[in-house]
Amino acid sequence: MSLPSEVDVAIIGAGAAGLGAARALERSGLSVIVLEARDRVGGRGHTIMAAPDIPFDLGCGWLHSADQNSFVDIAQQLNFEIDKTRPPWREQSFDAGFPPKERADFIEAIDDFYDRAEAAAKSGHDSAASAWLEPGNRWNPMIDAISTYVNGCELDRVSILDMDAYVDTGINWRVRRGFGALMAAYGAPSPLAFNCNVTRIDHSGPRLRIETSRGTLSAAKTIVTVPTNLISDEAIAFHPALPAKVDAARGLPLGLDNKVMLALSDPDALPKDGNLRGATMRTAMGGFHLRPFGQPCIEGFFGGSFARALEDAGDGALAAQAIDEIVVLLGSDFRRKLKPLAESRWAHDPFARGAYSHALPGHAGARAVLAAPVDGRLFFAGEATSPNFFSTAHGARDSGERAASEVVVAISAAR
Ligand SMILES: Cc1cc2nc3c(=O)[nH]c(=O)nc-3n(C[C@H](O)[C@H](O)[C@H](O)COP(=O)(O)OP(=O)(O)OC[C@H]3O[C@@H](n4cnc5c(N)ncnc54)[C@H](O)[C@@H]3O)c2cc1C
Repeated sequence: MSLPSEVDVAIIGAGAAGLGAARALERSGLSVIVLEARDRVGGRGHTIMAAPDIPFDLGCGWLHSADQNSFVDIAQQLNFEIDKTRPPWREQSFDAGFPPKERADFIEAIDDFYDRAEAAAKSGHDSAASAWLEPGNRWNPMIDAISTYVNGCELDRVSILDMDAYVDTGINWRVRRGFGALMAAYGAPSPLAFNCNVTRIDHSGPRLRIETSRGTLSAAKTIVTVPTNLISDEAIAFHPALPAKVDAARGLPLGLDNKVMLALSDPDALPKDGNLRGATMRTAMGGFHLRPFGQPCIEGFFGGSFARALEDAGDGALAAQAIDEIVVLLGSDFRRKLKPLAESRWAHDPFARGAYSHALPGHAGARAVLAAPVDGRLFFAGEATSPNFFSTAHGARDSGERAASEVVVAISAAR
């Protein structure tokens, strides 16, 4: 779409939040444009075909809290099949390297840890989640590994107040054709300008002046949905500056998670929707979803500093690590049965710079600061602004809808 010279509302970013905002404004009578730096919608929701029959979500894959997830209705409306198979995260296929007694022991340890952290959060005083690990507990490294999957970082960088605010109903579903594919279909009707990198927002005059790689436009209102790492790096310059937003974003950095997809040549050897943890006594290890949806493949997941080190090591490092870990558990035969198909690189992605936000200890309040409108003209959405569904795609989408309604209220009030 060509870039208009002026609009009522410019939405920056066509991820779940930007699309949620655009769809909510569809019948508002306002002129709207979504300015997206990439050549596609979805942002951190991106499905690729790793092989002709294997859709691979490089970013979000699970409809977390599915019974409260606004993407479930959207999937149904758009005829995207939802798979309700329970996630196998607490299982270990073949009990490989992690017998049931050990698993029960670990689950007790991690549940106790969460109980302690939750009780501590009730006091209202913030602290690092790592402070609530039981000193010397043998499962601490693995509890930290789970944090790298859930928060994208180790527990010493996680606020217990933020952790406590997160809502997880424990129901997790998937979209058969891919979550990113669903987002693309959801966003298709929106007015989108691709390859349109916003570099500056001048809000000193009566209208907002938005500078982009495709030229400048003016808008009455804007909804900024870019990831926190871009706000804290000041990838978009605000004039006058918005130091409170930059500070809030710095308290809500994106952690890192990366995924790898491996083709499996002998699928019958492994259970459909099985699971393996690469190792049990260290933090630097992957989690492996065997044959997701019954497909002939294995999806690996790495988080935190280990994911960063593997990404920094270059293309193919995630796949090599995944294969090494799987071979230790299932036998050397698997080395020739597995073939790397694709892997994500979210830290090096210039328009994401990480996976999802977590609050640093002492910064749980930053989500509300980031979400607050400025001057009735600049509005903020994105997963990091969600009070309870942060770090998720549905939290992002709902935040876009929230910002859209703030815009409508501000415009009606001014009329
Ligand atoms: C590996 C991984 C696994 C995940 N798993 C899940 C999961 O299972 N379930 C779940 O719910 N969530 C998951 N998430 C998180 C989820 O993907 C995100 O929380 C959500 O997609 C964020 O949406 P958003 O709109 O806030 O941000 P984004 O999707 O990042 O959208 C922001 C958009 O802004 C654009 N942009 C950036 N800078 C500019 C600029 N200067 N000018 C114009 N455009 C710009 C970006 O290109 C992007 O399209 C996962 C994420 C990752 C990385």
